[in-house]
Amino acid sequence: MAKRKVAFITGIAGQDGSYLADFLLEKGYKVAGLMRRTSNIRRTNITHLLGKISIEFGDLLDYHTLESAIKKHQPDEVYNLAAQSVPADSWTHPIYTGEVTALGVTRMLEAVRSGKPDAKFYQGSSREVFGGARHQVCNEETPYLANNPYGVAKVYGHLITRTYRESYGMFACGGILFNHESPRRGLHFVTRKITMGVACIKLGIANPPLNEAGEPLVIDGKLLLGNLEAKRDWGYAKEYVEAMWLMLQRKEPEDYVIATNSLNSVKDFCKSAFEQVGLNWKDHVRSHVQFTRPTEITASRGDYSKAKKELGWEPKTGFQDLVKLMVEADLERLSR
Ligand code: NDP
Ligand code: GDP
Repeated sequence: MAKRKVAFITGIAGQDGSYLADFLLEKGYKVAGLMRRTSNIRRTNITHLLGKISIEFGDLLDYHTLESAIKKHQPDEVYNLAAQSVPADSWTHPIYTGEVTALGVTRMLEAVRSGKPDAKFYQGSSREVFGGARHQVCNEETPYLANNPYGVAKVYGHLITRTYRESYGMFACGGILFNHESPRRGLHFVTRKITMGVACIKLGIANPPLNEAGEPLVIDGKLLLGNLEAKRDWGYAKEYVEAMWLMLQRKEPEDYVIATNSLNSVKDFCKSAFEQVGLNWKDHVRSHVQFTRPTEITASRGDYSKAKKELGWEPKTGFQDLVKLMVEADLERLSR
């Protein structure tokens, strides 16, 4: 019988890590993953996977836990998805963001180089590397003009991955993913904030979860957001994790843009989400300067044609369907 492949995922309890674990288990992999000891294992996206995956407690700040986890599991594939992943928080935590989201990548690459140098390595790069680029459509050749501390850290992570590939011959790929959302998205991101807000308002929830400012998400039937004109290329996370895996199945390691090549605004998202439950977003959403940012990235779409041609990957879930599935999931979650 063929030996089961082993995958090691950092950030396994996050949105992408948990979908990737689902996907790889389905493919017959043995899956191990890193999470912080401070994370509440019962409140995460992986409750349904406990017993099917191995958990290592560790931190991207601590090289030795990473090295010993790689030595112990001897993975065929390593997916580095852990990060301080919230761009909005990177202005208030710029040094921590650099330590985790930038230098954390080097720690992981060193851990792999020391513990299992022939493992294939995926780095969770981001469209934030393009930052303020004056391109309406970005692809693998677009210059990196990151304009917030998170984006700058992601440029470092992307380039150090490429550097290890070129310097040591490691099979290391950077997936430049545009925003991708799902019912497992953190509440401090705008899409989930909106769908959870819609569900709280529709169901008249008395004690809504807290927003990123530590206040109730909904007060007197109103949801406070920031810049409603901001636009993003939003896809469905469950589909994006397949692209990560496909990159590591190629003969040669390369970088790929993963996106939908379409743009919608926060306002479009609000309109569609409130319509799902028969409400008018204008009655419930307010824009407040508290949630706006010092700089915004350019409203750019992602050109995924290289991924389509070489990986056979393309997005399937459109914007309206994504909003619908997220609203339905939050309604169901709160009804339970
Ligand atoms: P999440 O925020 O859902 O998951 C990130 C995970 O990283 C969390 O589980 C978190 O653990 C873990 N983490 C944070 N800090 C540390 C640390 N110091 N040591 C170890 N683990 C840590 O993000 P996503 O799943 O959405 O994203 C996955 C990756 O892809 C991230 O690197 C993100 O920056 C990147 N990305 C995401 C995009 C998106 O739209 N979702 C777009 C482009 C890139 P804990 O549970 O303990 O908090
Ligand atoms: P990001 O693209 O990874 O930063 O994802 P976010 O979901 O955090 O933000 C997407 C866009 O929504 C950004 O341009 C924000 O300025 C905008 N936005 C508007 N209101 C809010 C809000 O209340 N919270 C967050 N997080 N973003 C908001």
